[in-house]
Order: sequence, then C-alpha cells, then structure tokens
Amino acid sequence: MQLKDRTAVVTGSTSGIGLAVARGFAAEGANIMINGLGDADAIEKERAGIEKDFGVRCAYSPANMMNGAEVTGMVEAAAKAFGTVDILVNNAGIQFVAPIDEFPDDKFEAIIRINLLAAFYATKAAVPLMKKNGWGRIINTASAHALVASPFKSAYVAAKHGIAGLTKTVALEVARHKITCNAICPGYVWTPLVEKQIPDTMKARGMTKDEVMNDVILAAQPTKQFVTVEQIAAYALFLCSEGAANITGAMMTMDGGWTAE
Ligand code: NAD
Repeated sequence: MQLKDRTAVVTGSTSGIGLAVARGFAAEGANIMINGLGDADAIEKERAGIEKDFGVRCAYSPANMMNGAEVTGMVEAAAKAFGTVDILVNNAGIQFVAPIDEFPDDKFEAIIRINLLAAFYATKAAVPLMKKNGWGRIINTASAHALVASPFKSAYVAAKHGIAGLTKTVALEVARHKITCNAICPGYVWTPLVEKQIPDTMKARGMTKDEVMNDVILAAQPTKQFVTVEQIAAYALFLCSEGAANITGAMMTMDGGWTAE
C-alpha cells in the first residue's frame, strides 16, 4: 500500500491513461479525485467501482479543463473532500490533426487550454497544499511530442513542448520542498485519443487506415508495439515512490524507442 492515506487528483481520468493511473493509485490505497467528460452513468459506475474494488474514497469533479476557474475549483474540492492534495496528475488532453494552413482556430485554442493551461491552473492550486505538507508529486502526461514533432499536429506539439517547459520550471521552484514535478512522455498508447485521430490522419496524408496504423503510428515505435495504459500507470506509481524522490524536472520517456532515433 504505497499510497495509503495519500490523496491524488487525476485529470482526464474517465478514459484511457488517466483511468488506468487513477485505478493504479487507488489499488495502492490513495483516495482519488477523478475528472473528465463522458456519460454521467458511466462515470458514476467508474467512481463507485474504484471505491468498491480498492476500499478507498473516490470523488468525481466535472471540471472542464477549458476553464481555469473550474480547474482551480477541482483542486479545492479535492482538498475539501480529502483534507489535502498530495499527488496531481495533469493528464487530460485532446488531439486534432490538420495542416497548419487549415488548422481550425477553435481547435488550436482548445488544445492549448486543455493540454497546457489546465496544468498551469491545477499546479498553481496544488503547490501551496503540497508545500504545507512538505511532500508532493506532480506528474504531467506529456508525450513523445513534448520532445519531437510530427507534421499536422502543430497545436498538440506546441502544447506538449509547453508542458515540458512548465514541468522543468515548476520542478526547480519546488525542489526544496520534497515536491517533484516530472513529465511522462509516452509514444503511442492505444486509447480513444489515438483511435479518433486515424480518420483525420488518413485525410491529411491521403492514406488508408492500415497505412496510417503501420506507416505512421507504429512506424514511429521501433518496438512495433503500442505502449499500454497499465505500463504508464506503473511508471506514474514509480514516480510517487521514495525511490524516485530525486527524479525531478525529468522528461520520462516510454515510447518504444521512438525518440532514440
Ligand atoms: P483519452 O481520450 O482516452 O482520455 C482523455 C481524457 O481527457 C478523458 O477522460 C476525457 O474526458 C478528458 N478530457 C478531454 N477534454 C476534457 C475537458 N475539456 N475537460 C476535462 N476532461 C477532458 O486519451 P488518452 O490517450 O488517455 O490521453 C491522456 C493523455 O495522454 C493526454 O494528455 C494525451 O495527450 C496523452 N498522450 C496520449 C498518448 C496516446 O497515444 N494515447 C500518447 C502520448 C500522450
């Protein structure tokens, strides 16, 4: 029970990586604030399932990561429900694929808000609580796209490179408080986020679905395998351990070798 009596807020945890991280932390005893969009009944089932499966408390925040005040309110609500926030995982994210000269303005702005600005607001709200406790873990789900670019993903790559800068800066600011701030940089993980970008990538590159899967997606990963959400959850759990107390400001890759090339 590595995280017994800890409280974690995981944004974007109604699906994919965030859901696996929330469940992974709950399995180690943490109380969890989940967050994300989706069908209310399905979310309630997930919330109640975490409590039942792991014997922890789990609350849901409907905060929209587009809105800074709602992000701040989510952290405050977690502190009110559970006493404090020890671990913050800034994970919510969306993707949109289009050439720069056709990129819709509203999509670009939404990606910057959800994938970058929300992490700023949540971190700003959580750091005073962590400083007070003398312990904290901030984990940003970045991407291989925080380190390298791919065509047609200007907004996403800009936001993820921004997250890299935020991660390193926050790490330096909180270094003397036993708070670490790191980014996990996955390659392709099979989640709805990846599945949804296939039709647009087919259009942007003039390819079939199979060509996109093999020549674009898995072409980037020398292992020719998708990273799994469970592997990301295990990585996040490691970053919360005492063994990882001196890892901070790091871009932790888990990309099947993508950025080694
Ligand atoms: P996903 O689509 O399965 O999950 C995204 C989550 O974010 C969902 O819970 C969704 O409800 C939530 N979300 C989206 N918009 C939101 C909003 N406005 N307000 C609140 N919540 C919102 O995607 P995923 O693949 O699990 O992605 C999670 C993170 O991992 C993202 O930051 C993504 O960029 C990053 N990532 C994913 C991959 C991949 O290959 N899947 C690779 C690298 C990085």
